[in-house]
Amino acid sequence: MSKKQFKAESKKLLDMMINSIYTNPEIFLRELISNASDAIDKLYYRSLTDKSIKVKKDDLEIWIIPNKEEKTLTIKDNGCGMTKEELEENLGTIAKSGSELFKENNEKTKDISIIGQFGVGFYSSFMVANKVVVDSKSIDGEESYIWTSTGVDGYTIEKSDKKEVGTTITLYLKDSSDILDTNEFLEEYKLTSIIKKYSDYIRYPIKMNVEAEKDTIEEKTINSMVPIWKKKQNQVKESEYNDFYTDKFYDYEQPLKVIRTEVEGLTSYQALLFIPSHAPYNYYTKEYEKGLQLYSKGVMIMEKCSDLLPDYFSFVKGLVDSEDIALNISRETMQQNHQVRLIAKNIENKIKKELTDMLENDRENYEKFYNAFGMQLKHGIYSSYGMNKENLQDLLLFYSSKEDKYITLAEYVSRMDKDSKDIYYASGESIDKIKMLPQVEMLLDKGYEVLYLTEYLDEFVIKTINTYQEKNFVNATDKELNIDGEEEKEELEKINKENTDLLSVMKNALSDNVKEVRFTNKLKEHPVCLTSSGELSLEMEKIINNMAPNTEKVKAEIILEINNNHEISNKIKELHQENNQEELEKYTKILYNQARLISGLEIENPSELTSLICEMISK
Ligand code: ADP
Repeated sequence: MSKKQFKAESKKLLDMMINSIYTNPEIFLRELISNASDAIDKLYYRSLTDKSIKVKKDDLEIWIIPNKEEKTLTIKDNGCGMTKEELEENLGTIAKSGSELFKENNEKTKDISIIGQFGVGFYSSFMVANKVVVDSKSIDGEESYIWTSTGVDGYTIEKSDKKEVGTTITLYLKDSSDILDTNEFLEEYKLTSIIKKYSDYIRYPIKMNVEAEKDTIEEKTINSMVPIWKKKQNQVKESEYNDFYTDKFYDYEQPLKVIRTEVEGLTSYQALLFIPSHAPYNYYTKEYEKGLQLYSKGVMIMEKCSDLLPDYFSFVKGLVDSEDIALNISRETMQQNHQVRLIAKNIENKIKKELTDMLENDRENYEKFYNAFGMQLKHGIYSSYGMNKENLQDLLLFYSSKEDKYITLAEYVSRMDKDSKDIYYASGESIDKIKMLPQVEMLLDKGYEVLYLTEYLDEFVIKTINTYQEKNFVNATDKELNIDGEEEKEELEKINKENTDLLSVMKNALSDNVKEVRFTNKLKEHPVCLTSSGELSLEMEKIINNMAPNTEKVKAEIILEINNNHEISNKIKELHQENNQEELEKYTKILYNQARLISGLEIENPSELTSLICEMISK
């Protein structure tokens, strides 16, 4: 019979498994039991909705059968089984979603710990076995088939004579070696301890024949069958939650936070939720699917129920188990379902409360959370036209000039002068670049606290929030920046009036590039700066134009400001008095481009600028 080849990526993975120095080879059993349990879930769920399928709940079970003579370990279930096509599809390829990424990742890192993310459970059996035989009969087929593989060289599929629906997996264990004792996996005590450790919560009996008194053998159920979320809180160790999470939700890192909640009432439910400690590889892509597992009376009825989570909390993993949700609820009716909506609302509040709690009491972990998922919260504010801002704004963090670390808006406001009305911020590519903006220097000099916004969405979010505790947000580079005293203002007004003529020559030299040219006394050492008037800031202009490079460019309304206390002011006033228009125009262009550079903007005509500078310095 001809051998079939594994898909390329699967082969690589398999190769890693076979030769892996996985620190925890015993987890293969957890993986196989978990698959068996899922298969039973599927069958049982089908039987509830399809009356032609008859299943007795009490008959559903998983068997673990060690055989010391043959050196085999068998895992047997009476779940839904697999058809020939499913054997090919499921065991011949790694879960499709992961395979592309796996390929990428595998080339970059050789880190095997990441494999958990890709749903490669079954292949882990090759860590301990050199031959794996899967005998299966599907609930959807007349025939049964045997899939056999000895590793990377491929697999075969033959007809089998298996009569009952379900799957039997036999592992031909590798010889024991210094680094791996496979004999252990045939010992009752070892198997029992592995099952108790990793699979205790499995809701179907995991059975084994064990030695009883007087050399008799008796059937024993090893696991307690109480799902972890139904156990008393004080009876579950932190490590059990963590293991449950990494196993069920394909993560290689422990969760940042475990949230358990239980509600008794008109709609009763238990929820077990996890906040991951890092964003999954596809989190910020369209492929990522949010949702919680939904159980009804202990039966899983939906793998990813998206209606249970708002988009801005889409990073949360976990499950909900409720007696009050009908087993045959469909995706379509889900949204209108009163109970589901109620549960979703409660869960949202609970997550919010836990995050707030972490923010207040465990800032270090909150920052870790925020680094991974802060962007999602910002999206939540921005994308709903501000509908959710009240709910989310207090979860945001921004970098503070004063503290040199992340702070909340509430913390900013609590430190403000009683009479101040404005929250200052400045945006740019990096904190260092923002610090160098002339207007920021000036604000800092006067003792103001400035929030540094470095992410592309930040300023849009600030605009959406609009006001916070009756304070306005003011961009340091906005022309409305109003921190001068009345006297200073009047003085400046006078200077600008006196120089109307000069300023209009300069404005004309720059034509449409700027809306206005004027003197300022807010700068310390910098000769010039750009400010914007109107809704669009310079930073937003940059971002919008980068996001849609092929559409018509948007333009912020720019004002060129010249430091009235700088030497250069005298120089241009002089040129104007001498009526040296030509020279004044050249100066203006250079000053304008310098201001662009300081703001991190592109120079529109670099060669013109270089010629001008050369001309000046050769004088
Ligand atoms: P995962 O369980 O993460 O999907 P696996 O490689 O462990 O990945 O399994 C691949 C697929 O093979 C499963 O999704 C399931 O469809 C099928 N499968 C594995 N074991 C069984 C089993 N005991 N009974 C029925 N189907 C199974």
